[in-house]
Amino acid sequence: MPIYKAPLENMKFVLHDLLNVGQLSELEGYGDATPDMIDNILEEGAKVCEGVLFPINQSGDEEGCTFDNGTVRTPKGFDEAYKTFTEGGWTALSAEPEYGGMGLPHVVGTAFSEMSCSANMSFAMYPGLTEGAYRALLLHGTDELKQTYLPNLITGQWSGTMCLTEPHCGTDLGLIRTKAIPTDNGAYKITGTKIFISAGEHNLTENIIHLVLAKLPDAPEGAKGISLFIVPKFLVDSGAANHVSCGSIEHKMGIKASATCVMNFEDSIGWLVGEPHKGLKAMFTMMNAARLGVGMQGLGIGEVAWQNGLAYAKDRLQMRALDGAKAPDKPADPIIVHPDVRKMLLTSKAFCEGARALSYWVGMHLDIAEKHPDPQTRQNADDLVALLTPIVKAYQTDMGFEVANLAVQIHGGHGYIREYGVEQYARDARIAMIYEGTNGIQALDLVGRKMGQNYGRLLRQFFHPVLEFIEANQDDEKLQGYIFPLAKSFAKLQQAAVQIALKGLKDPNEAGAASTDFLRMFALVAMGYMWAQMAKIAQQKLDENASDRPREFYESKLKTATFFMERMLPETESRFRMIMAGADSLMSITEDEFAA
Ligand SMILES: Cc1cc2nc3c(=O)[nH]c(=O)nc-3n(C[C@H](O)[C@H](O)[C@H](O)COP(=O)(O)OP(=O)(O)OC[C@H]3O[C@@H](n4cnc5c(N)ncnc54)[C@H](O)[C@@H]3O)c2cc1C
Repeated sequence: MPIYKAPLENMKFVLHDLLNVGQLSELEGYGDATPDMIDNILEEGAKVCEGVLFPINQSGDEEGCTFDNGTVRTPKGFDEAYKTFTEGGWTALSAEPEYGGMGLPHVVGTAFSEMSCSANMSFAMYPGLTEGAYRALLLHGTDELKQTYLPNLITGQWSGTMCLTEPHCGTDLGLIRTKAIPTDNGAYKITGTKIFISAGEHNLTENIIHLVLAKLPDAPEGAKGISLFIVPKFLVDSGAANHVSCGSIEHKMGIKASATCVMNFEDSIGWLVGEPHKGLKAMFTMMNAARLGVGMQGLGIGEVAWQNGLAYAKDRLQMRALDGAKAPDKPADPIIVHPDVRKMLLTSKAFCEGARALSYWVGMHLDIAEKHPDPQTRQNADDLVALLTPIVKAYQTDMGFEVANLAVQIHGGHGYIREYGVEQYARDARIAMIYEGTNGIQALDLVGRKMGQNYGRLLRQFFHPVLEFIEANQDDEKLQGYIFPLAKSFAKLQQAAVQIALKGLKDPNEAGAASTDFLRMFALVAMGYMWAQMAKIAQQKLDENASDRPREFYESKLKTATFFMERMLPETESRFRMIMAGADSLMSITEDEFAA
């Protein structure tokens, strides 16, 4: 049976020692978000995740959702768990108090979502999609729409969906065919078929509120002609069914307890959200939060997978250590003695702890971007979030899958069979690299949109603090092992950015060909920056003989930071070389030659 324990001490280290999230309580509306309050919430959240969501994760995977003539049922225990979850207010954490939310900082929601995804990613999809719908409405809905829908979405009495994908289009939403015809009373009739809709139909809530992309009759061609509509399953005033039906559910590789639905809309009544033809733009403004949410799925799965890998590696006895027996009283040594197993464990640990720091850092800047009184500070924070969101989404989901895969490897044959539960993590993690914009599209977003935006203004929000940190600490003897590799990889990253910008101007395929390597390189440098800062704090704590945590906590941080610098960050060098190689080897081969 798999295990999961919320990594509260590590979460607190990031929130308080690294990020000092207590500073957020000075922002308007966040007065209650003191460090103690945040800790209490996370401790209570951990109990729900460990005690309510985690126990139904493996059974949910085995049973999956079922479809019967338009009705979708979630696996056994999901409805009771959902009730506990909503009654505990976990759907309301970061929602606006004006509509019944708790109004806590996003970074608290970010931390909670890590735990819920570790405990049960399928379950977390339901409130996750609701949050996406909530944000789209909050940012773009009229007051009337907000008053009508937000309170019940926040309590979780109703759930939400995001209906974008159609059979012939996923990435290229400009191709959608779903139609919206205006009616006399200001509403629209929506007709079309959407596929792959998470939480499109299920038995957890009274009503399901669909956010649907569709085209008006006078819509311009392509992505500039898409509008966003809100379409409830049941009309709110009359309670009548709204001709929204589920045609089937998908049978898929993972997240089997999350219903993935074909949704049919037949003259379903909907209301416009935001301006006509600006639907894609409206979706994009809420996407930072949604993509960060998917990045948390990568971290969440990575964390639970690595916890299981570690437990197994301490327990499983095979062979003797290369330098002599470590457990001579036993028939063999635990596999944790073997260098290769250690490498897999440390890769996992260094990813999880570094990515936690990176994603919470971004989560905190969502709060600063929203609430800080100074407009320039808000803008700077918004720029940093925009820049790092595709990086968090793509890197953390790539690595979440990689770490789940390592957990399977650490378990050997026992990882491949169901009993230990880790093969589920690999299957569940895989989708996060695909939805909410594939990771290839995240890389294009970084290179094609974010990098050059406002003459590199977004880039500067990352480059400046890294440079300042390097300059401030480069003479510190004890930090050499962290600052030097960071500085080296950071210089290469800047060089790569300039090269891509120059080459991309002449030939856009050059930018496209460099994009995924550049995103990975960027992510590694960002992780290096996080690890160098964490190492600095750990070193200070050890120097001060701090008694707030056992010394081994800080020793562990330093050793993991060293591992990251020596064994993970050097990947930036090969990525740099691949970027510099240019597009030719990708683009010169013809379609016929591919098949030859
Ligand atoms: C389990 C599950 C849940 C989902 N939930 C939802 C949901 O709730 N709502 C919703 O609307 N959708 C949902 N989706 C759909 C998902 O968002 C899409 O599958 C995804 O956006 C990719 O679209 P596609 O499958 O059509 O792939 P395609 O767009 O056909 O892409 C295929 C490949 O081509 C690449 N590609 C495409 N264009 C480019 C380009 N310009 N440059 C480089 N590479 C490119 C892609 O990166 C990908 O590797 C879900 C899908 C699944 C499987």
